[in-house]
Amino acid sequence: MIYLDYNATAPLRDCAREAATQAMCLYGNPSSVHGFGRLVRQKIEAARKTIADILDVESRRVIFTSGATEANNMALRFFPGDVFVGSTEHDSVRVVRDDACIIACDIHGLMSCTSLENHLKASTSSLKLVSYMAANNETGVISDLESVQEICMRYGAILHSDMSQAFGRTALDMKKVHMASFSGHKIGALTGVGCLIVDEKLPLFQLMQGGGQERSYRAGTENLSGILSFAAAASDMQNDDWTSTSQKRDWIEAQVGAENVMIRDVARLPNTALIRMSGVKNETQVMNFDLAGIALSAGSACSSGKIKTSHVLQAMNIPEADMSCTVRVSLGPLSSQEDVSCFVHVWREMTNKQQINS
Ligand code: PMP
Repeated sequence: MIYLDYNATAPLRDCAREAATQAMCLYGNPSSVHGFGRLVRQKIEAARKTIADILDVESRRVIFTSGATEANNMALRFFPGDVFVGSTEHDSVRVVRDDACIIACDIHGLMSCTSLENHLKASTSSLKLVSYMAANNETGVISDLESVQEICMRYGAILHSDMSQAFGRTALDMKKVHMASFSGHKIGALTGVGCLIVDEKLPLFQLMQGGGQERSYRAGTENLSGILSFAAAASDMQNDDWTSTSQKRDWIEAQVGAENVMIRDVARLPNTALIRMSGVKNETQVMNFDLAGIALSAGSACSSGKIKTSHVLQAMNIPEADMSCTVRVSLGPLSSQEDVSCFVHVWREMTNKQQINS
């Protein structure tokens, strides 16, 4: 099997597996005062420092969660003011608040600064929160956080960013945001771990209650193996070679032809391509690629495994005929030239078959 679905989840890194396995041999509750507890506590704090150093934030701002979904919920769910979210956000941001104001985007999926500014201007709340992802999971488009930050500053709004797809794949400046969400499994750690970078000066209501863990931001005994695997993966990620990955992505796009490349002329993650095969529904493509041994996704898959219409491509006003025939190829640092050649070979075979049948 060839794996071209890194934006869904990345394969577990060897170092993350090792860290998790070693953690499984340890026991002791990190909140216990005895030696077992203290050892485990030390390991968690070292992992926190590793993540904090990589992100260039203070360790105390790193709050471990079960992943980016929880981190996003934590940031938005009980925020006591007006909430503004981008139309291309992941559902764990977009649907968390019924009362959130959805900000329109342009044809690349970038938040409309004019629309954001108008909405912030119209808000009478003294507390405002804007949530804007650093890079989109479906398209790989990198957000213009700088412009959004400027507008937020002008209107005294807090800026939260879901950085789970951008982490390790593009430079991140944590000074641009107050809060940010991360996911372990997107970078090759175990699933079920992530973090929220908090700003202690800002209001944040607890999602999980009933314990004082994570400095009372997030109750529940810490996920030791997850956390240690997260830190190990984040360290290892520093050595990833995304230049060669982006060359492979560009090579795929050159092979399928510009007319079938759905995202162009905008800053993008080095690994993501949206490829159209005119006249072939994306679910048929995903199935046929799977039969050929290639794992990839349509823009979005819901938890039942069915493919649903992408709210991201819809928000970008991509015509229905293109949207329903587009698949996402997302590479990783381990994707080889052989992998991408195989993808192009199968893509051509499917295209030729479609042309004969139509
Ligand atoms: N945000 C984005 C942009 C994502 O791509 C994902 C994973 N699909 C999530 C949040 C959810 O992350 P997790 O699986 O860690 O909850």
